[in-house]
Amino acid sequence: MQVKDLLVHTARTLKQAGLPEPRRITEWIFCDVLDCSPAQLMVCDDVQIEQKNTEEILAAAARCAVHEPVQYVTGSTEFHGLLLHLSPEVLIPRPETEQLVEMVLETVTSDQPIRVLDIGTGSGCIALAVKQACPNAQVTACDISAGALRIARKNADRYGLQIQMIQVDLFAHDFIGKVGTGYDLVIANPPYIPDSERSALPRMVRDYEPEIALFCGDDPLKFYRMITKHLDNGLLEGILALEAHSDYTELAGSLLRRQGGLDVHIKRDLAGLPRFILGEYVRA
Ligand code: GLN
Repeated sequence: MQVKDLLVHTARTLKQAGLPEPRRITEWIFCDVLDCSPAQLMVCDDVQIEQKNTEEILAAAARCAVHEPVQYVTGSTEFHGLLLHLSPEVLIPRPETEQLVEMVLETVTSDQPIRVLDIGTGSGCIALAVKQACPNAQVTACDISAGALRIARKNADRYGLQIQMIQVDLFAHDFIGKVGTGYDLVIANPPYIPDSERSALPRMVRDYEPEIALFCGDDPLKFYRMITKHLDNGLLEGILALEAHSDYTELAGSLLRRQGGLDVHIKRDLAGLPRFILGEYVRA
């Protein structure tokens, strides 16, 4: 079969399956299997596809057709210019989190030897992006999940980025004991979706992404309360940057302002929703 015929067939299958961007997902699968760029794909319309590749494309498309995210099917995604290895053990990094990284990078000088902590690192996306932009930073990434840390380690190794990885529960009594205190920068994209919103999520998210990275139970501020508590124990000396649920960003910001003693600013995402909390620790 020629590339163009299989492209049309695959995009039609994915459209019929109700996927929002069938053509984009089709191209993603083709580029992964044929190991080419989207631009190269466009100019090989009438090239004959080998049987082995055709089978691989059809198998990948069948997985996407049941709403498995294409990032898990291909095992990779791009984040802030980095090609990251992914598995269902980690959340798929979102553009909002790239925005969080951008905001953070605007607050630091790239050659400073700052100490940085990424809480709940998942794929390692935030930690890697910061370390790549600030080579002199001493970056620590922690997560409760050993599986996530394996992926984060693999990603850091791929780019030769030195990042300390620590397996720890944010809610455990020895959290501070394990990660230490006095960070210049603490960043996190914690689980922030209340359980009550589970049924409203797209299948792609609900059925495939790790629950532990998405849901915060019935208290939407659960993770922000715990982070505030760790601030009391000296976790941070500089800047805090958090992603949050747009419905609860203001509340989480007020909590941090009140109890964490931070100078807090709320920032909006590209859709105009309040999504990020940027705080600076000003000690009296
Ligand atoms: N932003 C993700 C979503 O919309 C959730 C990430 C998180 O809970 N931290 O699905």
